[in-house]
Amino acid sequence: MTTTSPLQGKFLIPFIAPPNGGKGTQTKRLRQKHDLPTFDMGATFRSILKEGKNPQLADEIKKYMNEGKLVPLEIVMKVFTAGFEELAQKNPNAKGFILDGFPRDLGQAQSLMALCKKWGAEIAKVVYLNVSNTTVEKRATGRRFCSKDATHVYNLNDPDFQPKDANKCDIDGEPLIIRDDDKPETVQKRLKEYAEQTNPIIDMFKKSGDLAEIDGERDADDVEVDVENALKDYLKSPVAG
Ligand code: AMP
Repeated sequence: MTTTSPLQGKFLIPFIAPPNGGKGTQTKRLRQKHDLPTFDMGATFRSILKEGKNPQLADEIKKYMNEGKLVPLEIVMKVFTAGFEELAQKNPNAKGFILDGFPRDLGQAQSLMALCKKWGAEIAKVVYLNVSNTTVEKRATGRRFCSKDATHVYNLNDPDFQPKDANKCDIDGEPLIIRDDDKPETVQKRLKEYAEQTNPIIDMFKKSGDLAEIDGERDADDVEVDVENALKDYLKSPVAG
């Protein structure tokens, strides 16, 4: 008996950006506007740490995250495959899926392409938000998360994302916190890791014609217009540029 993959004929949109490059903001907008379920690799790791169901796995992941390093391939692929296949099963009617923060190095990119083949899925475009190190550093010092719901994100250095009160979430009034990996020394390590591990896949997707390179330095609305236009063949309602 043959079973059809829940991902047969679906498109995937991986987002690549440096830490604080605007991935979260853009993937949230795209998801809400086009009803595209999102698999967020960093958030999945953070929930494994929070849930504490598998302390050994959590300890291993934490070691790398706290160092600003990429979690090893074997763990990433296990967590990705299980989590993403579950997301696809839960959303049988989705036309496509967003991948936030995956792939991040050559091993992951190759594994993803092999999985796409197996699933019968295709990569729409790899959206690459190009942001300078100076901007990343500035954004990291201002980024704050709601202590109750980490999807409520603010930035004290960006007028578009400032909370009304610097210490409280606008939505639920809970205290705002700084994520461990936004600390300056960790941001530097993450940038180094990004340059070494992620730049090669940006080159690879550029050569294969799958990359949509977008200037991520501009305000979120302008970036969004470019993201929509880059994906217009896959999305129903492109916005005018
Ligand atoms: P993010 O939430 O995307 O900023 O990711 C936070 C941290 O999770 C990263 O600094 C890495 O330590 C880890 N991480 C997230 N995505 C990946 C990935 N695709 N491969 C390896 N590690 C990852």
